[in-house]
Amino acid sequence: MTYDVCIIGTGPAGLSAAINFKLHNKSVIWFGSKDMSLKVEKSEKIANYPGLPYVSGKELNEKFLAQADEMGLEITDKLVTNISPMGNSFMILADNEVFEAKALLLATGAFTAKPIPGEEEFIGRGVSYCATCDGFLYKGKTIAVHCGSEKYEHEVEYLAEIADKVYLSMGYKGNGPELANVEKLASPLGKVSGEMKVTSIETVKGETRDVDGVFMLRNAVAPTMLLGGLEMDGPHMVVDREMKTNVKGCYAAGDCTGRPYQITKAVGEGNVAAHSIIDYLSELDKK
Ligand SMILES: Cc1cc2nc3c(=O)[nH]c(=O)nc-3n(C[C@H](O)[C@H](O)[C@H](O)COP(=O)(O)OP(=O)(O)OC[C@H]3O[C@@H](n4cnc5c(N)ncnc54)[C@H](O)[C@@H]3O)c2cc1C
Repeated sequence: MTYDVCIIGTGPAGLSAAINFKLHNKSVIWFGSKDMSLKVEKSEKIANYPGLPYVSGKELNEKFLAQADEMGLEITDKLVTNISPMGNSFMILADNEVFEAKALLLATGAFTAKPIPGEEEFIGRGVSYCATCDGFLYKGKTIAVHCGSEKYEHEVEYLAEIADKVYLSMGYKGNGPELANVEKLASPLGKVSGEMKVTSIETVKGETRDVDGVFMLRNAVAPTMLLGGLEMDGPHMVVDREMKTNVKGCYAAGDCTGRPYQITKAVGEGNVAAHSIIDYLSELDKK
């Protein structure tokens, strides 16, 4: 099935857009956490949200969830790792599944993690973001895995079943899976090296290991790695007043488009982006 729109991100920007698409009867595939936004959840008191003075982040997130539920807005709890423009639609890779949508809304929040040296250079040549998609390529081989959160530990276990040896870089406080062929590195991954393909890694403290591949298991993917050719201004996606990016059919809203990082801005931009996409879809239908 080809959806009208794919929304990536379940924060206030994504929700605001999803509500408007529902009101306009558009078919939507919506990716992100079923718990919506961790950032909203973390806000102690929000002083400037109209109509809800000094609402706590937890309370607001609960209201967001309740509204999504009440409107029947379904969330697909998958990390999108790659998007390819296909003329008048996009192919979206989320975990090991491919989805298609005519328009795209990036509401991915601010991306703060910096790629490590060599990471971008070796994408598709030994650097992967998806254990289920690419794990089978490393049967009997030696790999390094950067595990950015406890929720990816099962993916480390999965990779350890396939690979002969796993060097584990921990991106959070915790012990990670204890398995015979998993060796925890003393410090996190700092560099990926190779020639045609990845051949080795180096930790931030200078330890080196020879590897055949590297898996980066993080909560988010850098926008430029998600969608090639996206125009950026530093860490932010460049958009016009319609929230249109430089890629045809691709719009962006919320923290990912720039400061101020505020819920009201995210909600407003999600609304503008949804209306622009609805116009875009009707133009597309006329062709
Ligand atoms: C501690 C703290 C306190 C704050 N206090 C306030 C405040 O008082 N008032 C205020 O207005 N703002 C506050 N903010 C800022 C506010 O939370 C953000 O501006 C707002 O959440 C941005 O919304 P967003 O929808 O752009 O992105 P986010 O809320 O960051 O949501 C982005 C979503 O996209 C998902 N995502 C990203 N990449 C992918 C991918 N590849 N595949 C699938 N899903 C993906 C993420 O998991 C996340 O769920 C605070 C933030 C923090 C951290």
